[in-house]
Amino acid sequence: MSDEVFERTLYWLGEFQRDGAQGNVNLHHFGESTLHPKFVEWVDRITDIVPEARVSSNGVGVTREMIRGMRDAGLTALSLSIHRPEVVKKVAEMCQDEGLVCDFASGPLSAPHNWAGQVEGRNSEWAKTYECHFLEIQEVVILADGRLATCCIDAEGIVPLGTVWDDLRKVDLKPFSLCLKCHHQVPERLFPDWRAKLEEVPVCQP
Ligand code: SF4
Repeated sequence: MSDEVFERTLYWLGEFQRDGAQGNVNLHHFGESTLHPKFVEWVDRITDIVPEARVSSNGVGVTREMIRGMRDAGLTALSLSIHRPEVVKKVAEMCQDEGLVCDFASGPLSAPHNWAGQVEGRNSEWAKTYECHFLEIQEVVILADGRLATCCIDAEGIVPLGTVWDDLRKVDLKPFSLCLKCHHQVPERLFPDWRAKLEEVPVCQP
């Protein structure tokens, strides 16, 4: 993410925080956020605006110095996804030493899903499921290049929702093509007959 996209993202965090609509912020999508050279500095700036901030990481590049930095920057929790247990164990021990809260996501080992059919050779039968909060609370994703994406399943931002330079208050998230194969559930009470209406949603085919 460039400085320009980050600054504009901060602007929107401030707007939604003032509106009482932000609540928390997740500092990850596809890729490893902790690899960004300004990661700790940006956590500090984000938590000045939104105190509840979490990041999911595989832990591979996380050092003791970074853990101290995240702690001092006010990160609420480091969520360690268990791709490499030996790495996660080491990072978790450092978090305990340094007083940074960490928790664990075992899905990559115990129940890897297929990203709504985007990863061949996997099924989502055992994946943990829940009602889709992206659609329920209109929680949009800001991609590294400033475009918007509907949810954590959509790596490419295939629905053209606009960018951080548009008015994010006007963004209207709706079920889209990937919802058909997603292990999460579209909230039917909010989107009755969503399957029948899918054709009305503009979708760029990858
Ligand atoms: S693909 Fe649909 S149901 Fe799954 S997380 Fe994204 S918006 Fe929610």
